[in-house]
Amino acid sequence: MESRQKVITALVIIFSIFFISMIISTALNFREYGVKTAENRASLTAEIVKIGLTSHMVNGIMDQRDYFLDQIGSVEKISELWIARSPTVIEQYGEGHNNETPRDKIDTEVLKSGKTKSLTTETASKSMMRVSIPFVATEYGTPNCMACHKAKEGEVLGVVSMVMDISEIRTSSLRTVLYNMAITIVTIIFVFMVITRFIKPFVSIFYSIRDVMQSAYHGDYSVRIKGHQNKESETVAKMLNTMLEKLQHTFEELDKKVYVFIKNKNYVKEPDPLININTTIERLSDIYKFKQTIENDKDLEDIYNRIASVLKDHFKLDDFTMTEIDTMNKVKKIVYSENGCHCEILEGECRADRIHSSVDSSIFKNSCELYKLEDTEYICTPYTISNELTLVLTIVTKGVKDTEHVRTITSDIEDYITTARPAIVSKKLMQTLNQMARVDQLTDMYNRKFLDEFADVSIPQAVRAGTSFGVMMIDIDYFKMINDNYGHDVGDEAIRMVSGVIKSSIRKADMAIRYGGEEFLVLLYNCEEEKIIEIAETIRIEFSKQKIYANGDSFSKTLSVGCSNFPKDSDSIWKCIKFADMSLYQAKDTGRNKVVAFNKDMLDNTEVGDSY
Ligand code: GH3
Ligand code: MG
Ligand code: MG
Repeated sequence: MESRQKVITALVIIFSIFFISMIISTALNFREYGVKTAENRASLTAEIVKIGLTSHMVNGIMDQRDYFLDQIGSVEKISELWIARSPTVIEQYGEGHNNETPRDKIDTEVLKSGKTKSLTTETASKSMMRVSIPFVATEYGTPNCMACHKAKEGEVLGVVSMVMDISEIRTSSLRTVLYNMAITIVTIIFVFMVITRFIKPFVSIFYSIRDVMQSAYHGDYSVRIKGHQNKESETVAKMLNTMLEKLQHTFEELDKKVYVFIKNKNYVKEPDPLININTTIERLSDIYKFKQTIENDKDLEDIYNRIASVLKDHFKLDDFTMTEIDTMNKVKKIVYSENGCHCEILEGECRADRIHSSVDSSIFKNSCELYKLEDTEYICTPYTISNELTLVLTIVTKGVKDTEHVRTITSDIEDYITTARPAIVSKKLMQTLNQMARVDQLTDMYNRKFLDEFADVSIPQAVRAGTSFGVMMIDIDYFKMINDNYGHDVGDEAIRMVSGVIKSSIRKADMAIRYGGEEFLVLLYNCEEEKIIEIAETIRIEFSKQKIYANGDSFSKTLSVGCSNFPKDSDSIWKCIKFADMSLYQAKDTGRNKVVAFNKDMLDNTEVGDSY
């Protein structure tokens, strides 16, 4: 039941109770008053009868009392009047000529008890009251009853009984009740109207506020308060409507303004702008924290690890791989893998990268032939980092539910990766610059700068791990002649040729460095002594077979190699390099086009400084 109905029901109940109580109380009081009045009248009549009879008695005209009694009896409203003598009086004076004996039980009772008794009889048309009042003997009154009666003090001498018509009392009681009813009803209606008129605007504004609040609770701030019918409620409605207007405007503006910061717009917006603002701010806050963190990350690996931790901790992914694809150089590198890579992405062409769109195995089975893990689904999404760089995220899912969940979060993941994009690009650039600073442009071999770093950082680690290196110093014989006879370009070509021969003669784990103009240093990883010489010989012979073309002519050149063994010859790599250099010069001094291995005798002729 609505509050308004409750209030009205309560008022109706209260007024009804009031009305009924009032009517009952009036009717009862009035009736009691009427009965009392009738009884008083009866007492008065009885007293008059008593006085009259006494007078008759004193005057000795008792035999004329009938006239008196008839006159009294004919008084209006007294229907009947009679006297009944007590047995004592009857004994003394007889029954009288009117046979004044008790007529009924009431007379007898009153004669016995000496107490007045009345009885009211109601019929549809009339109300009658029967009253019997005793005459009690006393010697103290005037006249003294005992003067004439042989009776004791307090003895009942007789009764005066009468029947009175009290219908008028009933009629006037009814009339009064009706009057009261009418007045009460009019008053109640008036009060009711005043109350409802007074509370109606407040009740209606209350309901309007309730409706507005209900809509606002569900995110609709456009509903306004209506139904104001008085000044107070109008003021309240105006104030609340202004506040709602401001709230609606602010929320909508906030929602729009905050929303633009989210790069990915694919997520479903709620009807409640407050929820959207809250969601967007939470997302922005997370992304902002992420952005701040990756800006302070040291290198690209840290950034990829950071993205991976977001995927694990925030998005609850436990099986994914991130692959970096250099689209220009067609180079692919797995930069992070959680739970292993189940895709042969390094071996073949990545479909997601090629079509620049997500590949979802749950939409089309076996979409990508590179994916190998059975009984699982996958979603591969390419994220463009720059013109040259794409990051492919392969997420492995275990079923339909898992896939659906991943589909809903891929756009959120995009927000994080897009946020990380500038940092990835700048770190990638730094990586390239660093690589360029460490790589010789002519030969694509490492340079001296790289050697310095490698010797300081990796060699001590290698020593601790028990790794050894074969050291080779290679120099082209009479190289100056090429420059002099054919020019620098041909000289450069010869240098590139040597670098090619060296690279094809060593393993991936080995390291080739352009040490000087046409001088190369090679570090052979964990290489036995004989093997060093063998590889050096291979390089020497292979280069000597090469033909260098210039000015329509072709010629061949030779090179010399000096070898040493780290840490066998010295626990300092720099000393070993120097020993290899010494061996090279011995090769040059002893005829060139040869390989010379370091031996301790060489030290007898030369001083090797500690600076190396
Ligand atoms: P040797 O047999 O004793 O080694 O005789 P060589 O003529 O090779 O003498 P050396 O090794 O000292 O020659 C170095 C020359 O290499 C000097 C320089 O002109 C030339 N050179 C150095 N760097 C480059 C380069 O990048 N390109 C070209 N074309 N020449 C270079
Ligand atoms: Mg030379
Ligand atoms: Mg040289």
